[in-house]
Amino acid sequence: MEELLGNEAVRARIWRAADEGRMHHCYLFEGPEGVGKAMTAMRLALTVNCLSDHAPCGTCASCRTILAGTHPDVVVVGPDPEKLTRIITADQARAVITGLQLQRHSARRRFVIIDPVDALSEEGANALLKTLEEPPAGTQFILVTSRAASLLPTVRSRSQRVRFGPVAREALEGWLSARGLDPALAVLSAGSPGFALRLADGEAQERRDVVEQLLGVVGQPLHLLFSFSEAAGKRSEGSVERTTLAVDALEELLRDAVFVASGRERDVLHPTHLGALRVWAAALHPGGIGRLDKAIAAARDRLKLNVNGRVVLEALFTALNLELSQARRA
Ligand SMILES: [Zn+2]
Repeated sequence: MEELLGNEAVRARIWRAADEGRMHHCYLFEGPEGVGKAMTAMRLALTVNCLSDHAPCGTCASCRTILAGTHPDVVVVGPDPEKLTRIITADQARAVITGLQLQRHSARRRFVIIDPVDALSEEGANALLKTLEEPPAGTQFILVTSRAASLLPTVRSRSQRVRFGPVAREALEGWLSARGLDPALAVLSAGSPGFALRLADGEAQERRDVVEQLLGVVGQPLHLLFSFSEAAGKRSEGSVERTTLAVDALEELLRDAVFVASGRERDVLHPTHLGALRVWAAALHPGGIGRLDKAIAAARDRLKLNVNGRVVLEALFTALNLELSQARRA
């Protein structure tokens, strides 16, 4: 089975706890997107339940059914991919609870992996609280998130936090090279193998295009910005992805502006836009960046609630234009 990349110390600690039979019944795996949190959760379920002496072997009956996603005692709960919203509903949460009332099928330890747990609706979280606190014997919860700050405190307080970090640059460069991919993606992805793979898969170009469009309309009369928001956010297939991409693009540009403001122009993601980034850095750093970061977090929350993408983007870009124009006036 392929070796997991990075976060060795974090994994060693959990595996030791598993060996010694003293795992916390509810872990919260938190850290950046794409650094292997969910893979680690799955690997733990494989290891604990493997029937061979060389766990996880990947070939025994337990490993095979877990890998196929058909093991009745290893449940992964996520948002319904058929739906536009990225929500884990209260019904899904109640189904988990009902499932746990049944006898364990064959596993040594039953796993419930909720990924991402920040998608759990408030009603769903409340339904699960008691079970998270005191799950049936032999049940292991693993909650996965890259947005721990947005979780309900009641969920956070019932779990043991396990923090994952980015993968070290050299390790990720080697991993990418071994796959015939550009090692420069290690820096572009900020140490996230998952994100690096997505970038290699063409998302990089798409994001560059959105950044280009965005910079073309920012600071222009509002109707241009609104037509961009309308095009990106109009309700149709893929609108959530397009809106998210526009929010991501803005976030990247703000991060670049921070690099420029702190004398690290070499580290920016979008060096072709250094001119614009210098203007943003001078106008927005640090107060405006902080306020816009909050606006971005709010935008992501609203998207999660299925608010129309156009409305979300309009609010966000209006805030951006306001910050830029106030700085110009000051
Ligand atoms: Zn096995």
